[in-house]
Amino acid sequence: MNRTLRSVVPTHTVLEGGGFKVRRPVAMGRLMSPFLLLDEMGPVNYGPGEAVGAPDHPHRGFETVTYLLHGGMKHADSAGNHGDLNPGDVQWMTAGRGVIHSELPQDHMMEHGGLMHGFQIWVNLPAKDKMMAPRYQDIPSEAIPEATNTDGTVWAKVIAGTALGAEAVIDTVIPITYIHLKLQPGAVYEHPCTPEHNLMVYAFGGSMSIEGKALGDGGLGLLSEGDRLVLVAGNEGAECLLLGGPEIDEPIARYGPFVMNTREEIYQAVQDYQNGTLA
Ligand code: FE
Repeated sequence: MNRTLRSVVPTHTVLEGGGFKVRRPVAMGRLMSPFLLLDEMGPVNYGPGEAVGAPDHPHRGFETVTYLLHGGMKHADSAGNHGDLNPGDVQWMTAGRGVIHSELPQDHMMEHGGLMHGFQIWVNLPAKDKMMAPRYQDIPSEAIPEATNTDGTVWAKVIAGTALGAEAVIDTVIPITYIHLKLQPGAVYEHPCTPEHNLMVYAFGGSMSIEGKALGDGGLGLLSEGDRLVLVAGNEGAECLLLGGPEIDEPIARYGPFVMNTREEIYQAVQDYQNGTLA
């Protein structure tokens, strides 16, 4: 059965961290497990000295996944881990029991400005994995599999899961699909899906349709159940992220950068952060 477009969540623009502009679908809260948040950072063209990021802040109980299309970010945490994110790179960070980190533009972006565009998604962890040891997977663009269909009208970058015969190299705690797709005008992409998984499409360029229903730029399309998705690009082509994963059927207690199952666990997280024992 083909998946249909069940509903479209519109996006609004918010200021996050030190004041960087993001496009965020409204009501992401617990809308489609296991995803907690989807931010499109930019695209924004910074002048010299204008670029902003998120200074030191904590996380516990879930994963943050950053995928950069343009610009440069740098990451540093309180345990001494650090790394650069360049166009096409992915950082898959499992905060687990706790990370305190900063996510800032690279020095050249601060100095000279430039185009910044990327995504950050938050992936929930099941209760049994919420307090796992923090883990980083910094994957450079060239190590992330890409594939095109036989007539060259569909391109896919496979961050997690599989698409067009290519399999991701990133190891996820729970099975996740994270595909960046570019479709030429009128191109058709067929995606076989795990029937019991949730699946959504975030469109950020051009337009497309799913079983005859339109999904435009900035729309987050939540899909019905099914074992196949067929995307049809509009006249200008289409660009989107395809995101999927299992339903985590557990209570969510959330306070800012902490996502746990109970209020007690949230109090504990806040206390650990204040005592300096979170990370
Ligand atoms: Fe963060």
